Amino acid sequence: MPDKKIVLDEHEIPDHWYNVVADMPNSPEPVLGPDGNPITPDMLTPLFASGVIEQEVSTERWIPIPEEVREIYRLWRPSPLHRALRLEAALGTPARIYYKNEGVSPAGSHKPNSAVAQAYYNKQDGIKRLVTETGAGQWGSALALAGQMFGIEVLVYMVRISYEQKPFRRSMMETWGAGVVASPSDQTQAGRNVLAEDPTSSGSLGIAISESVEVAATHDDTNYALGSVLNHVLLHQTVIGLEAKKQFAIVGDYPDMIFAPCGGGSNFGGVAFPFFADKAAGKSVRLVAVEPTSCPTLTRGHYAYDFGDVAGMTPLTKMYTLGHDFMPPGIHAGGLRYHGDSALVSQLHHEQLVEACAVNQLETFEAGVIFARQEGIVPAPESNHAIAAVISEALRCKETGEAKTLFFNLSGHGHFDMAAYDRFFAGELEDYEYPEEDINAALSRLPQVD
Ligand SMILES: *Cc1c(COP(=O)(O)O)cnc(C)c1O
Repeated sequence: MPDKKIVLDEHEIPDHWYNVVADMPNSPEPVLGPDGNPITPDMLTPLFASGVIEQEVSTERWIPIPEEVREIYRLWRPSPLHRALRLEAALGTPARIYYKNEGVSPAGSHKPNSAVAQAYYNKQDGIKRLVTETGAGQWGSALALAGQMFGIEVLVYMVRISYEQKPFRRSMMETWGAGVVASPSDQTQAGRNVLAEDPTSSGSLGIAISESVEVAATHDDTNYALGSVLNHVLLHQTVIGLEAKKQFAIVGDYPDMIFAPCGGGSNFGGVAFPFFADKAAGKSVRLVAVEPTSCPTLTRGHYAYDFGDVAGMTPLTKMYTLGHDFMPPGIHAGGLRYHGDSALVSQLHHEQLVEACAVNQLETFEAGVIFARQEGIVPAPESNHAIAAVISEALRCKETGEAKTLFFNLSGHGHFDMAAYDRFFAGELEDYEYPEEDINAALSRLPQVD
């Protein structure tokens, strides 16, 4: 009987991150400022630490992981690679299914892999406080944990509706010493503007981003931190794929297909990019980003320059986008709601080097329940997207008799998302395809860049 878990020793935590830019056939498209000219690294210094700005533009293949960061990683890393033997048997598939369990981090997802690194580089620069936004609370928790580990204060603007509906993520952030403010708030000009128009606003990620960027830009001792999308965040997440490669080597197997849920792209990049290095060297491996049909950025969005936020305050990035004013439908409970995607993932998708697929909401929860009943772990709704795609592929293998090796990133556990599971069991969730008219309409509102 094969092992159910393939585990590494602490000293096998990678000592370098992998930078996919070194193996991309074309250099990344430039990021543009408000005047349409490429931005320079020094324009980012009011918001970000010098260490992460260097990484944002680096073309080096390997970037050393500071010893202080590896020391914190040791609290939960290396994460186990599991073989889903019970799921395989239940599906009756000849495929071998593996998953990396990022739910073992203290915050319950992959996000601390970057939060810890970002807190470290800000500490190096003498920054006293980090400010960020959070929707459901995953990224805010990760940064609260990381700030506590390095003695940096953390302030989180939490979208008001989540602040009210998900009080336990807030309690968790406060346990790690972070301050949490419901957004829109009266503490910033951006928040006050929104409240003047709509005193009962339930908030949005876009508003919370505007509030946190404003605080970081107006305080010298305060920087901003982002939990996905940017190159340095994907870089930090490559510890996932690098560990997985060592784990596959131990069992003498190698994935034919790799799946990860995709919102801003950090966990997809984190698990898939280290394998892209092999693909670039000629090995055959398919890398599949999985997104919701209600927010189909890579599968149906436009590949164009767009803002990262609703207010249009960020630089312009070339990426797959549904338009920066995209509003996720209220019926959607599965996360992954960002209108855009990582520039690196977008470019590789545009060049047909990585793939994407979209799955319907009900299928994702059905898949999560099947998984929980076989493997035990209750997955985060985001992770359920990858599980749904893996189950379809495993059933396809059953028809064709192919014994493929399928691998996915279980990006987090779902212990704070049981209300979404409740809604699924109560029959309150629906499938929703984002309308074609809305996708076309967004095109006309994209910023004009020539
Ligand atoms: C944030 C999050 C995601 C989406 O992450 P990206 O890396 O931005 O695509 C997926 N799963 C979980 C559990 C998350 O918390």
